[in-house]
Amino acid sequence: MKKKIGLHWFRKDLRIQDNPSLTALASKVDELVCVYILSDISALDNIESPSNTELLGEHRANFINQSLIDLDLSLKNLGQKLLVIANDGLASLLDLIDSLGITSVSAEWHCGVNERNQWNDLISLRPEIDYIQENGTTLYQESQFPFSIKNMPSTFSPFRKKVEKYCHVEALDAPLSTMPSSPLNAMPQNAMPQSALPQSALPLNAIVTECLLTHNNHYPELFGGETRALAQLKYYFWETDLISTYKETRNGLDGWEFSSKLSAWLAQGCISPKRIYYELSQYESQRTKNNSTYWLFFELLWREFFHWHHLSQGSKLFSLGGVQQATKPSEINPEIIESWQQGETGYPIVDACMRQLLATGFMSNRGRQLVASCFVHELAQDWRYGARYFEYQLVDFDVASNWGNWQYLAGVGADPRGHRQFNLRKQTETYDPQQHFIADWLT
Ligand SMILES: Cc1cc2nc3c(=O)[nH]c(=O)nc-3n(C[C@H](O)[C@H](O)[C@H](O)COP(=O)(O)OP(=O)(O)OC[C@H]3O[C@@H](n4cnc5c(N)ncnc54)[C@H](O)[C@@H]3O)c2cc1C
Repeated sequence: MKKKIGLHWFRKDLRIQDNPSLTALASKVDELVCVYILSDISALDNIESPSNTELLGEHRANFINQSLIDLDLSLKNLGQKLLVIANDGLASLLDLIDSLGITSVSAEWHCGVNERNQWNDLISLRPEIDYIQENGTTLYQESQFPFSIKNMPSTFSPFRKKVEKYCHVEALDAPLSTMPSSPLNAMPQNAMPQSALPQSALPLNAIVTECLLTHNNHYPELFGGETRALAQLKYYFWETDLISTYKETRNGLDGWEFSSKLSAWLAQGCISPKRIYYELSQYESQRTKNNSTYWLFFELLWREFFHWHHLSQGSKLFSLGGVQQATKPSEINPEIIESWQQGETGYPIVDACMRQLLATGFMSNRGRQLVASCFVHELAQDWRYGARYFEYQLVDFDVASNWGNWQYLAGVGADPRGHRQFNLRKQTETYDPQQHFIADWLT
């Protein structure tokens, strides 16, 4: 009988556990190849308009590299390895599929327009292959909703109320303890058939050195990979009980402790939202259940909302008029945009946040709201340029959450109020009363 050879295409699911697509494929093939397509760091002068390529800055690139190394180690423990190929669209992936005689391909479902297009392109280019795509990126499955995605609630509160009433989070998959071996394992690199490895295959150790040199100095804990994600979950919940005061601390501006910091790991799929949900449930039953523990769940529901909202609205998420198709006056002034990016607007709280972003790739949720409000209202710039810069810089960039939140603040998105301008002076008095944060970043 013909051997079944699978290929799992890791994209935004850089984890082994609770990865339903990988688990499903591993259970039905004789051999398995694990692949990641590595993107280059983007040029920042390419910020003009939303395009079909994700802008990638150094902070996130490092985090991804770190995650890949961790993933490769986990795969090696299961007798597998990760093949990293350079980004040339789908060409190298197709070469690999053809030369190894791949019979099934799996990848995790993702709400992003680009991710969905890529997947559909692959299917149309190799229609004869068997495809597996499961959703491990959200808490709920589309089939559980009491509404169709096309007609889903257009704002958060009705969405939240409905899912809290009608939906449940499905159980986690059993941990993966074995995997089929890789057809590449047996082949020494020089003995591989000419076409087996794409020209662009990269030795993973070439990126290891680079990562070790580029540790995030300000947040050393913010290091990519499933291992670190699970460690952060343990730290924030069980080791420090910080979760039990989350509601009081979550508006902090700087430091590691004021919020969960799980976003970057969630965005690259180093951890699944389901895993966080079940850890939270355990914490609530074994330690404390209070407003703070509920609030973390509430915030995960915001993420959930934006993911399904993106699926529902597609590329309207990137349009100037937003999902509301509104017309709001705005300009594109490169000097003003540059001053905002560099933290030189003259608004101290905004400048401090923007310098924090530039230096670390992270900014608090409060900070993000303030700098976005300033960009749209005080500076009167086209909100998409702010969103695109965030896309480049954020270590935790998530297409649905970033563009959804930006639209919301620009008054063209999923906001019933339609206009939100923060009073920067008042916000500073409330959230940085001694101006320590401002002093830390502006001096
Ligand atoms: C303009 C703007 C852009 C943003 N861009 C992104 C982005 O690209 N990626 C991203 O993950 N979040 C984004 N957010 C949401 C939020 O700021 C971050 O999720 C949060 O600051 C990450 O820190 P944390 O993990 O410690 O969050 P916590 O406060 O600990 O929250 C736990 C988790 O809940 C989710 N969450 C919390 N707030 C939101 C929210 N407003 N929208 C969606 N999900 C939320 C995140 O997954 C987060 O990790 C953005 C917010 C704004 C205002």
